[in-house]
Amino acid sequence: MNAEEEGRTLLAVLAHPDDELLVAGTLLAQRARGDRVVILYLTQGEATDAFGPMEPTEVARRRRALASEAAGILDVEHRFLEFPDGGVTADPTTARAIARVLADLRPDGLVTWGRAWLKGMRHPDHRATGQAAVDALTLARIRSQVAPAEPHRAPCPPFGIRGAHSRLPAVAVDVEPWLDRILELAGFYHDRIGFGDETWLRNRLRSAAEPHGLAWAEVHDAWETRPGVVEALLPAADALQYGHPSRQGPVEEIGPVGRGGSPESAQTSIAGEGRDG
Ligand SMILES: [Zn+2]
Repeated sequence: MNAEEEGRTLLAVLAHPDDELLVAGTLLAQRARGDRVVILYLTQGEATDAFGPMEPTEVARRRRALASEAAGILDVEHRFLEFPDGGVTADPTTARAIARVLADLRPDGLVTWGRAWLKGMRHPDHRATGQAAVDALTLARIRSQVAPAEPHRAPCPPFGIRGAHSRLPAVAVDVEPWLDRILELAGFYHDRIGFGDETWLRNRLRSAAEPHGLAWAEVHDAWETRPGVVEALLPAADALQYGHPSRQGPVEEIGPVGRGGSPESAQTSIAGEGRDG
C-alpha cells in the first residue's frame, strides 16, 4: 500500500461539545471509508445552563463526558482545547493552538464553522472558531509556529458548515446512509441537554439536500475544492490549481551584493518571503 492509498484524516474543529451534531453525517461518511476522524473542541461548553445552577468546572466535566459518549456513537476520536465558552477569539493564540494540533495530526481536510449569522447558529464562538481554524492552516505551515513538530504543508482543504446566506461554492455530503445514526446522536443530546430536536434536524437535513437533488444532506462551503455532491469530503478534488507552492528548503544566502544580484537570485529571495511561510 503506497502513501496515496493509505487512510486519510479528517479533522473537525468545532467550538462546543454538541456542535458535531451539525456535521455528524459528514464524520460518519468519512469513517465509513476507514479514514481517521478527529474532533477538536475549542471549549468545554461550560457556559450552558442546561444542567441548572452549577459550577462551571462541573458543567465542563459533564460536557466532556457527553462528548466522549458522542464520539463513541460516531466512532471518532476527540480532543479538547480549553478556551473559554463564550470567549473564543480568532486571534493568533487560538490559531497557533489549532495549528499545533494540525502539525500533530497532519489531516488531509478540515471541517469547521462557516459564517453563521442565523438565529440558533450565530454564536460568536462559531464564527471565531471557523476563522481561527482557517488561519491555523497557514500557521501550521510555518516551522517556528509549530516547533518542535514539523510544519504541516500537505494539502488540507477547509470546509465550512454552510450558513443559510452563503454564496460560496457548496459541497453536499449525501448523509442518507447515516440518517439513523445522526438521529441517534440528536436523541442522545436532546435527552441530556435539550439540544437536538429531531423535527428541527430532519428539516435542516432535508432542506439542505433539496437543491442538490438528494434526500438528506449536510452542506459545506467548499472554499478550495470542487463543489457538488459527494459521498465523503475526502478525498477532495482540488478546484484551485494556483495554491501556494511547497517550499523546496532553505534558500541560500545571497551575499553582500544580493540586492543587486542576478534577477534569478532576487526572485528566489522574494519567493522565500512568501506570504504564508
Ligand atoms: Zn456551538
